[in-house]
Amino acid sequence: MEILKVKTRKRKEVVDITADVERIVSKSNVKEGICFLFVPHATAALTINESADPNIKTDFLESLEKLIPDGIWRHDRIDNNGAAHLKSAIIKPDLMIPIKDSRLLLGTWQAIMLCEFDGPRERKIYVSFLK
Ligand code: ZN
Repeated sequence: MEILKVKTRKRKEVVDITADVERIVSKSNVKEGICFLFVPHATAALTINESADPNIKTDFLESLEKLIPDGIWRHDRIDNNGAAHLKSAIIKPDLMIPIKDSRLLLGTWQAIMLCEFDGPRERKIYVSFLK
């Protein structure tokens, strides 16, 4: 298993980690199988979406903002990040992506995104393989 570390820079941010994951896949010697990604944090998540248009990242964060606004949750009394926990739970901490010929089978417009909901922090992503 590999550990990918990503330093986020904002409180809420979407970071494209596709190139980092592809690098790990290409040196893994896995020709065919599944790449399993897991983020061990309760206020971050992983998703796949378009990265060609940077507006998608903003739209993604703003749509979640409308669904789950800050500052109205019971957990906010403890450490003021209730919304971040709820977003993490909805988007989920894991991804599975098929591998063929040592490459991720992502669609042309798909990119792997780390979703930061309570940064900035250093986040870990576990990268493992099912063969
Ligand atoms: Zn909390």
